[in-house]
Amino acid sequence: MKDDAQASTTAATGYRGRLAPSPTGHLHLGHARTFWFAAERARAAGGTLILRNDDLDTARHRPEFVDAMLEDLRWLGFAWSEGPDVGGVFGPYSQRERLPLYRAAMERLHAARLIFPCAHSRRDVLEAAGAPHEGAADDEPVYPKQFRPAKDAPLPPLWETSGVNWRFRVPDDEAIVFVDERCGEQRAVAGRDFGDFLVWRKDGVPSYQLACAVDDAAMQITEVVRGADLIKSTFRQILLLQALGHPAPQYFHCPLMKDENGVRLAKRHDALSLRALRERGVKPEDLLREFVASEAAERGA
Ligand code: GLU
Repeated sequence: MKDDAQASTTAATGYRGRLAPSPTGHLHLGHARTFWFAAERARAAGGTLILRNDDLDTARHRPEFVDAMLEDLRWLGFAWSEGPDVGGVFGPYSQRERLPLYRAAMERLHAARLIFPCAHSRRDVLEAAGAPHEGAADDEPVYPKQFRPAKDAPLPPLWETSGVNWRFRVPDDEAIVFVDERCGEQRAVAGRDFGDFLVWRKDGVPSYQLACAVDDAAMQITEVVRGADLIKSTFRQILLLQALGHPAPQYFHCPLMKDENGVRLAKRHDALSLRALRERGVKPEDLLREFVASEAAERGA
């Protein structure tokens, strides 16, 4: 742990779950349901719930969304015992304040030659990747093998190389398998279902995959509860956790909420933001009752 500049050496016990919202817009009904799942899983296990502020998205992050996010979560009645507002031994709990940990992880990946710099633009990658793969709209394209440097090519120093993205070299053809607590066995083949993925962006910001894996390990999260849209990310994070020598937590990917047209709810559905619902007189207990009922119906179906 010596190289993890701020990592806590505290050993936690029992179930540790987390809520990990990104302050890039107002939370909506879909987030509320995902967080309800996470809070319920922690409560049922008599565990600890942590709030992590995933504020690394420099382009879309707005400070007022952080306050709004905390207020909306409190309005829903969720309580957390560690977080940016209450502190805790595994802090800081805002990702922008955790850069030394992400840098330390990068240094380990670099020393193990598991990453490589990539000067290709997103457009180059998209064009060379060819036909979009399933779920491409919100996922990285499979990185074209022809862009990958040879395994034994000299690796430039990590922090002296500006203007390049760093990617994790996935173990080709290796099957990654995990048993999801909600969705059952999940399997993906590295290099086919997903490719060499981004770990550090050329603007100096760690990728979601890296930050999430590092934090879940450092905060000793035992179960990650999140939307099913992130199942593919889980395979990548499992590879990162393995590479960094951390055990993977358990995963529970919950079903995503759709609007009346079958489109997944997103922050653009302003009418379903928790603020808009609150203004229309909706009470948190109405929402929670809905979540319980829809889950019971789904489980019973
Ligand atoms: N901050 C991420 C998001 O809002 C959550 C990721 C996660 O739960 O791992 O999509």
